[in-house]
Amino acid sequence: MEYEVENCPHCGHNCIVHKKDTYDMIRYRVVCRSCGCSTPWMNEKETAIKLWNRRTNL
Ligand SMILES: [Zn+2]
Repeated sequence: MEYEVENCPHCGHNCIVHKKDTYDMIRYRVVCRSCGCSTPWMNEKETAIKLWNRRTNL
């Protein structure tokens, strides 16, 4: 199931999920390409998106 990434709480632009794939781990975070704000790197893509969407609701 794909979670939907909400728009940036600061500037309202679309945001994307970054994936960091290293030799022993994969991390995900949500990043705004406009203002550069982001979540911390998370183990799960869903966790990063949920964290981002919670920030949006603040
Ligand atoms: Zn932004």
